[in-house]
Amino acid sequence: MRPMMSPPLLSPSPCSLLRFLRLCHAPRRRNPTAAPPTPYTFRRRPLLLLPVAMSSSASITAPNSVVADPSALARKVAAIRAAGPSKLQVIADFDGTLTRYWYDGARGQSSHGLLRQGNEEYDAKREALYEHYHPIEICPDIPLPEKAKLMEEWWEKTHGLLIEGGLTYEAIKKSVSDAAIAFRDGVVELFEYLEERDIPVLVFSAGLADIIEEVFRQKLHRSFKNIKVVSNRMVFNEEGRLVAFKGKTIHVLNKNEHALDMAAPVHDSLGDPNGSIDDYSLVKKRTNVLLLGDHIGDLGMSDGLNYENRIAVGFLNANIEKSLKDYSKAFDIVYLNDAPMRGVVELVSELCP
Ligand SMILES: [Mg+2]
Repeated sequence: MRPMMSPPLLSPSPCSLLRFLRLCHAPRRRNPTAAPPTPYTFRRRPLLLLPVAMSSSASITAPNSVVADPSALARKVAAIRAAGPSKLQVIADFDGTLTRYWYDGARGQSSHGLLRQGNEEYDAKREALYEHYHPIEICPDIPLPEKAKLMEEWWEKTHGLLIEGGLTYEAIKKSVSDAAIAFRDGVVELFEYLEERDIPVLVFSAGLADIIEEVFRQKLHRSFKNIKVVSNRMVFNEEGRLVAFKGKTIHVLNKNEHALDMAAPVHDSLGDPNGSIDDYSLVKKRTNVLLLGDHIGDLGMSDGLNYENRIAVGFLNANIEKSLKDYSKAFDIVYLNDAPMRGVVELVSELCP
């Protein structure tokens, strides 16, 4: 394992690939004259915090990206590029992947966390559920099947409270408008580049589709015809009040393409009012995958696909020194320090020039 200091051993298109590798490696520094905000202190930590195997060839500045196996990545880039854009799809997590981890010097909000029902009693009840179930979610000692049951229980209770507490679409709009949430720089360029090439993007989330779509509307001020949000979707009555959820609950532990199988029939056109129902089968035929996530569990988003090549890009937002080793094993490229999306834009321009 090493940071992306060395060129790949062999590549069918060495010039462009080298350019890509250089771009991925190039440290992207913030304005050196600006004082770092308090929560960012890890940005300036020396590379001593990285695993020893990574520190030998990059001892002066911490890189913003790490590639454990450049030659394997080079082979995948070459294979996906050779197959062309019609074979590629992008599957992206939402919170902490498309959105920034930090916002104005503090933790950004998630699509779940930003929601205020306009009913304090019910906001408090959902918070109490969080206090009860979140420790279970992160407890490594609970067997997965048992934990999955409990997660489903948590999600369903939360959804029940949202209905019972009379959530309105207006409250969602206001919550998003007040929220501390922002997309990473470069997300719009990425979506535009993919849209121009008709490459579909599945935004796959255990959160709430209606909120994610409202975040798209309010924070990007435009829509993309190639983006489908696959997440828990609400049903509102004529007064704009939540009355039900569609389909099977997608929670943190069943968030994979099997969930997509279950959800697709009820997620009209995969959630995009402009999409066509054929999109689903088209997605299945796209056998090269660019996966974007911020948790190792996000790799499961491509589980149900028989993909030929997958490049997994991980955003390691917190606990960098503890998690980098595992992340760099799991993901082909790991971006550190709440990096912008520009490295992924460069990668996509190599995959589909
Ligand atoms: Mg996430």
